[in-house]
Amino acid sequence: MTVLLAGGAGYIGSHTAVELLNAGHEVVIADDYSNSCPEAVNRIEELTGKKVVSYEADVKDAEAVRKIFAENKIDCVIHFAGLKAVGESVQQPVRYYRNNIDTTLTLLECMKEAGVHRFVFSSSATVYGEENKIPYVETMKRGSCSNPYGWTKVMMEEILEDAAKADPELTVVLLRYFNPIGAHESGRIGEDPQGIPNNLMPYIAQVAVGRRDHLTIFGDDYPTPDGTCRRDYIHVMDLADGHVRAVNYAKDAKGVTVFNLGTGTPYSVLDIVHTFEDANGIKIAYEMGPRRAGDLPEFWADSNKATQVLSWEAKRNLQDMCRDTWNWQKQNPNGYRQGLGEDK
Ligand code: NAD
Ligand code: UDP
Repeated sequence: MTVLLAGGAGYIGSHTAVELLNAGHEVVIADDYSNSCPEAVNRIEELTGKKVVSYEADVKDAEAVRKIFAENKIDCVIHFAGLKAVGESVQQPVRYYRNNIDTTLTLLECMKEAGVHRFVFSSSATVYGEENKIPYVETMKRGSCSNPYGWTKVMMEEILEDAAKADPELTVVLLRYFNPIGAHESGRIGEDPQGIPNNLMPYIAQVAVGRRDHLTIFGDDYPTPDGTCRRDYIHVMDLADGHVRAVNYAKDAKGVTVFNLGTGTPYSVLDIVHTFEDANGIKIAYEMGPRRAGDLPEFWADSNKATQVLSWEAKRNLQDMCRDTWNWQKQNPNGYRQGLGEDK
Protein backbone atom coordinates (compact mmCIF):
# COMPACT_ATOMS: atom_id res chain seq x y z
CA MET A 1 0.00 0.00 0.00
CA THR A 2 1.00 3.64 -0.35
CA VAL A 3 0.65 5.32 3.02
CA LEU A 4 0.53 9.08 3.56
CA LEU A 5 2.16 10.01 6.87
CA ALA A 6 0.88 13.43 7.96
CA GLY A 7 3.54 14.61 10.41
CA GLY A 8 5.77 11.79 9.22
CA ALA A 9 9.08 13.61 9.86
CA GLY A 10 8.37 13.69 13.60
CA TYR A 11 9.44 11.27 16.29
CA ILE A 12 6.86 8.50 15.93
CA GLY A 13 6.22 9.15 12.23
CA SER A 14 9.87 8.73 11.23
CA HIS A 15 10.18 5.38 13.03
CA THR A 16 6.90 4.23 11.53
CA ALA A 17 8.10 5.27 8.06
CA VAL A 18 11.15 3.00 8.44
CA GLU A 19 9.02 0.03 9.51
CA LEU A 20 6.45 0.58 6.74
CA LEU A 21 9.20 0.77 4.09
CA ASN A 22 10.87 -2.34 5.51
CA ALA A 23 7.52 -4.13 5.31
CA GLY A 24 7.27 -3.31 1.59
CA HIS A 25 4.88 -0.34 1.68
CA GLU A 26 5.43 2.97 -0.11
CA VAL A 27 5.59 6.10 2.05
CA VAL A 28 4.62 9.70 1.33
CA ILE A 29 5.38 12.27 4.05
CA ALA A 30 3.62 15.61 4.54
CA ASP A 31 5.10 17.78 7.28
CA ASP A 32 5.38 21.52 7.91
CA TYR A 33 8.54 20.89 9.97
CA SER A 34 7.11 22.94 12.84
CA ASN A 35 8.51 20.33 15.24
CA SER A 36 10.93 18.37 13.02
CA CYS A 37 13.26 18.87 10.09
CA PRO A 38 13.91 17.50 6.58
CA GLU A 39 17.05 15.73 7.79
CA ALA A 40 14.77 13.13 9.41
CA VAL A 41 13.46 12.24 5.93
CA ASN A 42 17.03 11.88 4.60
CA ARG A 43 17.80 9.50 7.45
CA ILE A 44 14.69 7.40 6.77
CA GLU A 45 15.93 6.99 3.18
CA GLU A 46 19.45 6.21 4.37
CA LEU A 47 18.22 3.51 6.81
CA THR A 48 15.93 1.80 4.34
CA GLY A 49 17.70 2.43 1.04
CA LYS A 50 14.31 3.48 -0.34
CA LYS A 51 12.96 6.72 -1.72
CA VAL A 52 10.38 8.69 0.22
CA VAL A 53 8.16 11.25 -1.51
CA SER A 54 7.99 14.23 0.84
CA TYR A 55 6.12 17.52 0.91
CA GLU A 56 6.70 20.54 3.09
CA ALA A 57 3.03 21.20 3.71
CA ASP A 58 0.67 22.39 6.40
CA VAL A 59 -1.93 19.66 6.71
CA LYS A 60 -4.57 22.24 7.65
CA ASP A 61 -4.21 23.63 4.13
CA ALA A 62 -6.73 21.86 1.88
CA GLU A 63 -5.04 23.02 -1.35
CA ALA A 64 -1.71 21.57 -0.26
CA VAL A 65 -3.31 18.27 0.80
CA ARG A 66 -5.38 18.01 -2.41
CA LYS A 67 -2.17 18.35 -4.41
CA ILE A 68 -0.62 15.43 -2.49
CA PHE A 69 -3.65 13.21 -3.18
CA ALA A 70 -3.64 14.27 -6.84
CA GLU A 71 0.05 13.42 -7.29
CA ASN A 72 0.08 10.10 -5.40
CA LYS A 73 -2.25 7.14 -5.27
CA ILE A 74 -2.73 6.99 -1.51
CA ASP A 75 -4.34 3.89 0.05
CA CYS A 76 -4.18 4.85 3.71
CA VAL A 77 -3.46 7.93 5.83
CA ILE A 78 -1.75 7.95 9.24
CA HIS A 79 -2.33 11.23 11.05
CA PHE A 80 0.60 12.10 13.34
CA ALA A 81 0.52 15.85 12.63
CA GLY A 82 -0.36 17.29 16.00
CA LEU A 83 0.95 19.73 18.55
CA LYS A 84 1.63 17.68 21.68
CA ALA A 85 3.09 19.73 24.54
CA VAL A 86 0.61 19.54 27.42
CA GLY A 87 1.82 22.67 29.26
CA GLU A 88 1.96 24.72 26.06
CA SER A 89 -1.61 23.66 25.26
CA VAL A 90 -2.75 25.30 28.52
CA GLN A 91 -0.99 28.55 27.50
CA GLN A 92 -2.08 28.44 23.83
CA PRO A 93 -5.38 26.54 23.72
CA VAL A 94 -6.70 28.14 20.54
CA ARG A 95 -3.54 27.28 18.60
CA TYR A 96 -3.82 23.66 19.81
CA TYR A 97 -7.50 23.30 18.95
CA ARG A 98 -6.94 25.00 15.57
CA ASN A 99 -3.99 22.86 14.56
CA ASN A 100 -5.03 19.48 15.87
CA ILE A 101 -8.68 19.60 14.86
CA ASP A 102 -8.25 21.42 11.53
CA THR A 103 -5.59 18.97 10.37
CA THR A 104 -8.02 16.13 11.06
CA LEU A 105 -10.94 17.82 9.29
CA THR A 106 -8.85 18.77 6.26
CA LEU A 107 -7.51 15.25 5.92
CA LEU A 108 -11.02 13.77 6.17
CA GLU A 109 -12.42 16.17 3.55
CA CYS A 110 -9.56 15.66 1.11
CA MET A 111 -9.63 11.88 1.59
CA LYS A 112 -13.32 11.82 0.74
CA GLU A 113 -12.74 13.89 -2.42
CA ALA A 114 -9.88 11.61 -3.45
CA GLY A 115 -11.68 8.35 -2.62
CA VAL A 116 -9.26 7.34 0.15
CA HIS A 117 -11.00 5.37 2.90
CA ARG A 118 -8.47 4.27 5.50
CA PHE A 119 -7.47 6.51 8.40
CA VAL A 120 -5.13 5.54 11.24
CA PHE A 121 -5.01 8.08 14.05
CA SER A 122 -2.36 8.90 16.71
CA SER A 123 -4.46 9.00 19.82
CA SER A 124 -3.28 8.82 23.39
CA ALA A 125 -3.84 7.17 26.77
CA THR A 126 -4.78 10.67 27.89
CA VAL A 127 -8.32 10.12 26.53
CA TYR A 128 -9.04 7.76 29.44
CA GLY A 129 -8.98 10.89 31.61
CA GLU A 130 -9.09 10.89 35.36
CA GLU A 131 -12.11 8.68 36.07
CA ASN A 132 -11.19 5.27 34.69
CA LYS A 133 -9.64 2.46 36.70
CA ILE A 134 -6.26 1.03 35.70
CA PRO A 135 -5.29 -0.82 33.60
CA TYR A 136 -7.09 1.04 30.84
CA VAL A 137 -9.14 -1.09 28.44
CA GLU A 138 -10.53 0.06 25.07
CA THR A 139 -14.13 -0.62 26.17
CA MET A 140 -13.95 2.11 28.83
CA LYS A 141 -15.64 5.45 28.16
CA ARG A 142 -13.41 8.40 27.39
CA GLY A 143 -12.85 10.45 30.54
CA SER A 144 -12.29 14.13 31.22
CA CYS A 145 -8.88 15.64 30.54
CA SER A 146 -6.95 18.19 32.57
CA ASN A 147 -5.64 20.17 29.56
CA PRO A 148 -6.54 21.30 26.00
CA TYR A 149 -4.10 18.84 24.37
CA GLY A 150 -6.00 15.92 25.89
CA TRP A 151 -9.33 17.41 24.86
CA THR A 152 -8.14 17.71 21.25
CA LYS A 153 -7.53 13.93 21.26
CA VAL A 154 -10.97 13.24 22.78
CA MET A 155 -12.62 15.54 20.24
CA MET A 156 -10.73 14.08 17.29
CA GLU A 157 -11.74 10.56 18.30
CA GLU A 158 -15.37 11.71 18.39
CA ILE A 159 -15.06 13.48 15.03
CA LEU A 160 -13.61 10.32 13.47
CA GLU A 161 -16.35 8.15 14.96
CA ASP A 162 -19.06 10.49 13.61
CA ALA A 163 -17.38 10.58 10.19
CA ALA A 164 -17.26 6.77 10.08
CA LYS A 165 -20.89 6.50 11.18
CA ALA A 166 -21.93 8.75 8.31
CA ASP A 167 -19.70 7.09 5.72
CA PRO A 168 -19.79 3.28 5.70
CA GLU A 169 -16.78 3.25 3.37
CA LEU A 170 -14.54 4.96 5.93
CA THR A 171 -12.34 2.72 8.09
CA VAL A 172 -10.78 4.30 11.18
CA VAL A 173 -8.18 2.79 13.51
CA LEU A 174 -7.61 4.75 16.72
CA LEU A 175 -4.23 3.90 18.25
CA ARG A 176 -3.98 4.99 21.86
CA TYR A 177 -0.28 5.28 22.64
CA PHE A 178 1.03 5.03 26.17
CA ASN A 179 4.53 6.56 26.74
CA PRO A 180 6.76 6.10 23.68
CA ILE A 181 10.51 6.33 24.33
CA GLY A 182 13.67 4.89 22.75
CA ALA A 183 14.96 5.23 19.21
CA HIS A 184 15.85 3.17 16.14
CA GLU A 185 18.66 0.81 17.15
CA SER A 186 21.02 2.43 14.61
CA GLY A 187 20.89 5.74 16.50
CA ARG A 188 20.25 7.57 13.18
CA ILE A 189 16.70 8.66 14.02
CA GLY A 190 15.25 9.52 17.41
CA GLU A 191 13.32 12.05 19.45
CA ASP A 192 14.52 15.61 18.87
CA PRO A 193 12.50 18.03 21.00
CA GLN A 194 12.88 21.75 20.34
CA GLY A 195 13.90 23.77 23.41
CA ILE A 196 13.64 22.38 26.93
CA PRO A 197 12.13 18.88 26.81
CA ASN A 198 8.73 18.42 28.44
CA ASN A 199 8.99 14.66 28.61
CA LEU A 200 11.01 12.53 30.97
CA MET A 201 13.22 10.43 28.67
CA PRO A 202 14.48 13.22 26.38
CA TYR A 203 15.21 15.26 29.50
CA ILE A 204 17.27 12.41 31.00
CA ALA A 205 19.10 11.95 27.68
CA GLN A 206 19.99 15.66 27.60
CA VAL A 207 21.29 15.51 31.18
CA ALA A 208 23.41 12.49 30.15
CA VAL A 209 24.89 14.35 27.17
CA GLY A 210 25.59 17.48 29.22
CA ARG A 211 22.97 19.78 27.70
CA ARG A 212 21.05 20.00 31.01
CA ASP A 213 22.48 20.16 34.48
CA HIS A 214 20.08 17.85 36.29
CA LEU A 215 16.62 16.29 36.14
CA THR A 216 13.87 17.51 38.44
CA ILE A 217 11.55 14.69 39.47
CA PHE A 218 8.03 16.03 39.68
CA GLY A 219 6.84 14.71 43.03
CA ASP A 220 7.89 11.84 45.31
CA ASP A 221 4.80 11.76 47.51
CA TYR A 222 2.43 9.88 45.18
CA PRO A 223 0.63 6.73 46.38
CA THR A 224 3.01 4.49 44.37
CA PRO A 225 5.69 2.01 45.55
CA ASP A 226 8.54 4.60 45.54
CA GLY A 227 6.42 7.76 45.66
CA THR A 228 7.15 8.82 42.03
CA CYS A 229 4.61 8.51 39.20
CA ARG A 230 4.35 5.29 37.22
CA ARG A 231 3.77 5.08 33.46
CA ASP A 232 3.64 2.44 30.74
CA TYR A 233 6.75 3.17 28.63
CA ILE A 234 6.84 1.56 25.20
CA HIS A 235 9.75 1.36 22.73
CA VAL A 236 9.05 3.55 19.70
CA MET A 237 10.02 0.66 17.37
CA ASP A 238 7.37 -1.57 18.96
CA LEU A 239 4.93 1.30 18.46
CA ALA A 240 6.04 1.60 14.83
CA ASP A 241 5.40 -2.13 14.38
CA GLY A 242 1.89 -1.55 15.78
CA HIS A 243 1.27 1.00 13.00
CA VAL A 244 2.34 -1.44 10.28
CA ARG A 245 -0.13 -3.97 11.68
CA ALA A 246 -2.85 -1.32 11.96
CA VAL A 247 -2.36 -0.34 8.31
CA ASN A 248 -2.65 -3.99 7.24
CA TYR A 249 -5.70 -4.44 9.46
CA ALA A 250 -7.36 -1.31 8.00
CA LYS A 251 -7.18 -2.89 4.54
CA ASP A 252 -10.19 -5.13 5.16
CA ALA A 253 -11.72 -3.69 8.34
CA LYS A 254 -14.94 -1.68 8.58
CA GLY A 255 -15.95 1.13 10.93
CA VAL A 256 -13.90 2.26 13.92
CA THR A 257 -11.50 0.05 15.89
CA VAL A 258 -9.59 1.18 18.96
CA PHE A 259 -6.30 -0.33 20.12
CA ASN A 260 -4.16 0.45 23.16
CA LEU A 261 -0.45 0.23 22.43
CA GLY A 262 1.48 -0.20 25.68
CA THR A 263 3.45 -2.95 27.40
CA GLY A 264 1.14 -3.37 30.39
CA THR A 265 4.05 -2.92 32.83
CA PRO A 266 4.36 0.34 34.75
CA TYR A 267 7.69 1.87 35.73
CA SER A 268 8.30 4.77 38.10
CA VAL A 269 10.37 7.87 37.34
CA LEU A 270 13.10 6.48 39.60
CA ASP A 271 12.98 3.12 37.76
CA ILE A 272 13.64 4.99 34.52
CA VAL A 273 16.52 7.00 35.96
CA HIS A 274 18.18 3.93 37.48
CA THR A 275 17.67 1.70 34.44
CA PHE A 276 19.14 4.43 32.21
CA GLU A 277 22.17 4.57 34.54
CA ASP A 278 22.60 0.77 34.57
CA ALA A 279 22.08 0.28 30.84
CA ASN A 280 24.53 3.01 29.86
CA GLY A 281 27.00 3.29 32.74
CA ILE A 282 26.19 6.99 33.26
CA LYS A 283 25.10 8.82 36.41
CA ILE A 284 22.04 11.05 36.07
CA ALA A 285 21.99 14.00 38.48
CA TYR A 286 18.50 14.59 39.80
CA GLU A 287 16.63 16.36 42.56
CA MET A 288 13.12 16.02 43.91
CA GLY A 289 10.72 18.84 43.09
CA PRO A 290 7.02 19.57 43.52
CA ARG A 291 4.30 17.72 41.65
CA ARG A 292 3.51 18.87 38.08
CA ALA A 293 -0.08 20.07 37.68
CA GLY A 294 -2.33 17.54 35.97
CA ASP A 295 -0.11 14.45 36.42
CA LEU A 296 -1.94 11.26 37.40
CA PRO A 297 -0.14 9.02 39.94
CA GLU A 298 -0.05 6.01 37.65
CA PHE A 299 -1.63 4.32 34.65
CA TRP A 300 -0.87 1.53 32.23
CA ALA A 301 -2.43 -0.33 29.34
CA ASP A 302 -4.30 -3.52 28.87
CA SER A 303 -3.07 -4.26 25.32
CA ASN A 304 -4.61 -7.73 24.96
CA LYS A 305 -6.83 -6.57 22.12
CA ALA A 306 -3.82 -5.56 19.98
CA THR A 307 -2.23 -8.93 20.78
CA GLN A 308 -5.34 -10.88 19.85
CA VAL A 309 -6.49 -8.92 16.80
CA LEU A 310 -3.20 -7.62 15.36
CA SER A 311 -0.89 -10.35 16.73
CA TRP A 312 1.13 -7.45 18.11
CA GLU A 313 3.23 -7.46 21.22
CA ALA A 314 5.93 -5.24 22.60
CA LYS A 315 9.23 -7.10 22.22
CA ARG A 316 11.68 -4.58 23.70
CA ASN A 317 12.24 -4.07 27.43
CA LEU A 318 13.15 -1.02 29.49
CA GLN A 319 16.90 -1.71 29.16
CA ASP A 320 16.49 -1.66 25.36
CA MET A 321 14.55 1.61 25.54
CA CYS A 322 17.25 3.27 27.68
CA ARG A 323 20.15 1.90 25.61
CA ASP A 324 18.62 2.98 22.29
CA THR A 325 17.74 6.45 23.60
CA TRP A 326 21.35 6.98 24.66
CA ASN A 327 22.72 5.55 21.40
CA TRP A 328 20.70 8.19 19.49
CA GLN A 329 21.52 11.05 21.88
CA LYS A 330 25.27 10.42 22.08
CA GLN A 331 25.57 10.20 18.29
CA ASN A 332 23.39 13.31 17.86
CA PRO A 333 24.04 15.52 20.91
CA ASN A 334 22.00 18.33 19.35
CA GLY A 335 19.48 16.13 17.60
CA TYR A 336 19.29 16.72 13.86
CA ARG A 337 20.75 20.23 14.23
CA GLN A 338 24.45 20.94 13.91
CA GLY A 339 26.46 22.92 16.48
CA LEU A 340 25.97 23.49 20.17
CA GLY A 341 23.90 25.81 22.32
CA GLU A 342 21.11 26.61 19.88
CA ASP A 343 18.15 25.77 22.02
CA LYS A 344 18.74 27.03 25.54
P1 NAD B 1 6.30 15.13 16.83
O1 NAD B 1 6.06 16.55 17.20
O2 NAD B 1 7.69 14.62 16.83
O3 NAD B 1 5.64 14.82 15.40
C1 NAD B 1 4.52 15.52 14.92
C2 NAD B 1 4.89 16.02 13.53
O4 NAD B 1 3.78 16.73 12.98
C3 NAD B 1 6.06 17.02 13.54
O5 NAD B 1 6.99 16.59 12.56
C4 NAD B 1 5.44 18.36 13.18
O6 NAD B 1 6.34 19.18 12.45
C5 NAD B 1 4.25 17.92 12.36
N1 NAD B 1 3.11 18.85 12.33
C6 NAD B 1 2.45 19.43 13.37
N2 NAD B 1 1.44 20.20 12.89
C7 NAD B 1 1.45 20.10 11.54
C8 NAD B 1 0.67 20.64 10.50
N3 NAD B 1 -0.34 21.48 10.74
N4 NAD B 1 0.96 20.29 9.23
C9 NAD B 1 1.99 19.44 8.94
N5 NAD B 1 2.76 18.90 9.89
C10 NAD B 1 2.50 19.22 11.18
O7 NAD B 1 5.37 14.25 17.80
P2 NAD B 1 5.31 12.67 17.99
O8 NAD B 1 5.81 12.37 19.35
O9 NAD B 1 5.89 11.99 16.83
O10 NAD B 1 3.74 12.48 18.03
C11 NAD B 1 3.00 12.15 16.87
C12 NAD B 1 1.52 12.10 17.24
O11 NAD B 1 1.35 11.15 18.30
C13 NAD B 1 0.97 13.42 17.76
O12 NAD B 1 -0.35 13.58 17.27
C14 NAD B 1 0.94 13.23 19.26
O13 NAD B 1 -0.07 13.98 19.88
C15 NAD B 1 0.64 11.74 19.36
N6 NAD B 1 1.09 11.15 20.62
C16 NAD B 1 2.39 11.30 21.00
C17 NAD B 1 2.81 10.78 22.22
C18 NAD B 1 4.23 10.95 22.67
O14 NAD B 1 4.50 10.80 23.88
N7 NAD B 1 5.19 11.25 21.81
C19 NAD B 1 1.91 10.10 23.05
C20 NAD B 1 0.58 9.96 22.61
C21 NAD B 1 0.18 10.49 21.40
N1 UDP C 1 8.67 13.81 34.78
C1 UDP C 1 9.60 14.28 35.71
N2 UDP C 1 10.49 15.22 35.30
C2 UDP C 1 10.53 15.73 34.05
C3 UDP C 1 9.58 15.24 33.09
C4 UDP C 1 8.67 14.29 33.51
O1 UDP C 1 9.60 13.85 36.87
O2 UDP C 1 11.36 16.61 33.76
C5 UDP C 1 7.70 12.77 35.19
C6 UDP C 1 6.26 13.21 35.05
O3 UDP C 1 5.81 13.82 36.23
C7 UDP C 1 5.56 11.87 34.79
C8 UDP C 1 6.61 11.03 34.07
O4 UDP C 1 7.86 11.67 34.32
O5 UDP C 1 5.27 11.25 36.03
C9 UDP C 1 6.37 10.95 32.58
O6 UDP C 1 6.19 12.26 32.10
P1 UDP C 1 6.13 12.59 30.55
O7 UDP C 1 5.93 14.07 30.42
O8 UDP C 1 7.31 11.98 29.87
O9 UDP C 1 4.85 11.78 30.05
P2 UDP C 1 3.30 11.90 30.45
O10 UDP C 1 2.96 10.60 31.09
O11 UDP C 1 3.10 13.08 31.35
O12 UDP C 1 2.64 12.06 29.13
